[in-house]
Formats: sequence, structure tokens, C-alpha cells
Amino acid sequence: MNIILLGPPGAGKGTQARILEDKRGMVQLSTGDMLREARTSGTEMGQKVAAIMDAGELVTDEIVIGLIEEKLQNAQGNGFIFDGFPRTLAQADALGQLLDSHGQSLDAVIEMQVNDEVLVDRIVGRAEEARKAGQPVRADDNEESLKIRLMEYYKKTSPLIGYYYHAGDLSAVNGLGEIDEVAAEISNALDS
Ligand code: AMP
Repeated sequence: MNIILLGPPGAGKGTQARILEDKRGMVQLSTGDMLREARTSGTEMGQKVAAIMDAGELVTDEIVIGLIEEKLQNAQGNGFIFDGFPRTLAQADALGQLLDSHGQSLDAVIEMQVNDEVLVDRIVGRAEEARKAGQPVRADDNEESLKIRLMEYYKKTSPLIGYYYHAGDLSAVNGLGEIDEVAAEISNALDS
């Protein structure tokens, strides 16, 4: 089973992806994590995307599609959870073609619904927690970058809701509940 977790920054996609990995043996593919890894290891691509990411803008379709293509060739598991990908219509088209070419398909798209106020609280909270724990704080987890990230989401990513609704793959869950409540809602959607 291959699924997409779709939702704005702070919706809880990463948290729910890790739960699905534990419970179902699925494999999380997060382009955000892949890009951060490229930055840490100092690759040319990592350096190229650093400023764009910190500002909260989207990196090019070409780069993220390339990352996913590479992972699909190597990763194994009980299905993929796409987290933070696709974020544009071009990426959605590319994902469809890539899965097709591997003889696979998309089984569900989970739209995690939350409101902007909660997102700001969660992201600012995430930064504070990291700071307290002596962990590195994401450079884009500040109010200024978050505004841009939200605008990017509404302009470029939210059209995917219509795209996947039309394809018949979409289920919406309430992302405002407790972590295990949201997990249960996602599980129900996947099993129905
Ligand atoms: P995330 O960890 O998903 O919040 O992503 C962090 C940042 O990485 C985003 O704000 C973008 O700059 C970049 N990024 C991650 N995934 C994508 C994607 N699918 N398309 C374009 N940019 C992305």
C-alpha cells in the first residue's frame, strides 16, 4: 500500500508517518528529511537548496523528483508513505508516472486538516522544545519562514486536494486531535 500524507507544515505528517512505519512496516519517504540530509553531508545540491529552505520556499520540482526516484529504486518495505511530497501538481504527475513505471500505484491520499493558528503554535512549540532539549532548531521553524511556508502550501500544494479528490483517492482526517486519535482516524481511512 502506497499513501501520501498531505497537509500544511505542522499538520503532523512526520509524526503520523513514523507511527505508520511502526505499526504497518511501511517506509516513510520525506523529501524534507532527504534535503536536510543533503545539507548536513554538504553535497553540492544540499548547498544549493539551503537558502531556499531556510526562507520557507519550495525547492525545484526537478530536485525533489530526482530524490524520490532514487529512493523508489532502492527502498523496500510494506509500502511507502510519502511525507511532504508531492507539493506541486508537476510533482504529483511525476509521482504517478514513477509508481506506474515500478508497477505500483497510489492507494490513498490522507489530507490532514488543521487550522493556521494551531500550525503556528505547533511549529513555534517544536522550536522551543528543541531549544530546551539542547537539540538543533530547524532554521525554517520561525514565524517569518512559517508565513512563507504556509503561503507556498496554499498557492502550490493545496490544489493537490482537488487533484486527488478527482482521482478518487482522497480521505480527509481531523488533524486537531491527540496524536493517537489522529492515528486511529488514519488507520480507519486506510482500512476502509
Ligand atoms: P518539510 O520537512 O517537509 O517541512 O520540508 C522542509 C523544506 O524542504 C520545505 O519548506 C521546502 O523548502 C523543502 N521541501 C521539502 N519537500 C519539498 C517538495 N516536495 N518540493 C519542494 N520543496 C520541498
